[in-house]
Amino acid sequence: MIIVLKKGVTEEEIEHVVEKIKGLGLAVHISKGQERTIIGAIGDESVLAATPLEALPGVESVMPILKPYKLVSREFKSEDTVLDISGVKIGGKAVQVIAGPCSVEGRDILLETAREVKNGGATLLRGGAFKPRTSPYSFQGLGEEGLKYLAEARKQTGLPIVTELMDPRDTELLCEYADVIQIGARNMQNFRLLTDVGDCDKPVLLKRGLSATIKEFLMSAEYIASRGNKQIILCERGIRTFETSTRNTLDLSSVPVLKEETHLPVFVDPSHAVGRWELVGALSKASVAVGADGLMIEVHNDPENALCDGVQSLKPDKFSELMAVLKKVAEAVGRTL
Ligand code: PEP
Ligand code: MN
Repeated sequence: MIIVLKKGVTEEEIEHVVEKIKGLGLAVHISKGQERTIIGAIGDESVLAATPLEALPGVESVMPILKPYKLVSREFKSEDTVLDISGVKIGGKAVQVIAGPCSVEGRDILLETAREVKNGGATLLRGGAFKPRTSPYSFQGLGEEGLKYLAEARKQTGLPIVTELMDPRDTELLCEYADVIQIGARNMQNFRLLTDVGDCDKPVLLKRGLSATIKEFLMSAEYIASRGNKQIILCERGIRTFETSTRNTLDLSSVPVLKEETHLPVFVDPSHAVGRWELVGALSKASVAVGADGLMIEVHNDPENALCDGVQSLKPDKFSELMAVLKKVAEAVGRTL
């Protein structure tokens, strides 16, 4: 714990803080700078949780040294985590791209889209079989039938599949099919679901909640890691702000912040962030430029007739064009694609 004292703090006030900390059984290190005096309290910091040091005279702020998230923090593990998903390395030098439709709508259309995104350079295939829809009247996904089509698409293309889990009752079923289990934004704080996937040995793509802070996002990742599953990919997908010209507001700064705070790979989903296909390219380029380890992009063969998120889906030819540009951006920042 680091205790920053106010400017002009008196010797009596310093002594009072020191006595308080020592009384809790912690060692004290005092650093007197020109401007400020800082006290380091060393030992089991948990005893400080019930002691409001901020309330003591002369104390300006109190900062824990260790973050509330431990297993996922850089403090805990300084080198980047690199996952290997059927040979696709996530979190290494290569930027990986997950592409595919919002939802699995049928066998033929999925197989066709899978071939197209593979040709365009995608390295993983996405598609929801269980869809978290705002309206109960919207298409809810094909369930297990959709998972079977995804497995067939994987067999044909070799692309590992990423698909969303919404309900702990489906965990076993989903694990049978998926290469990566997606936890969607709406379930980022569904702690029962996080615990369940934490007990699985499948990689998890955890999307940032609609209004979640970066700290809350990392605490959710910590839930998964604390159960033993350390194969986690974080995915920024835009947050709720006052702005309405895009579906959400892509928090690009979360990428470098997360890369600083955690050793986990960080992806960006520009499709759900902006909600308009015309803007997906610009934000994809920006995401790679700020250090994203990968992207998740919605691609649909026939967006006009898509059952879900057609407005934000790229057609396969646009996806391929974008991939060619992204390759150059990746190279400019010392990555490959
Ligand atoms: C999705 O990726 O299919 C999805 C529903 O995204 P999000 O959870 O980010 O809204
Ligand atoms: Mn979607």
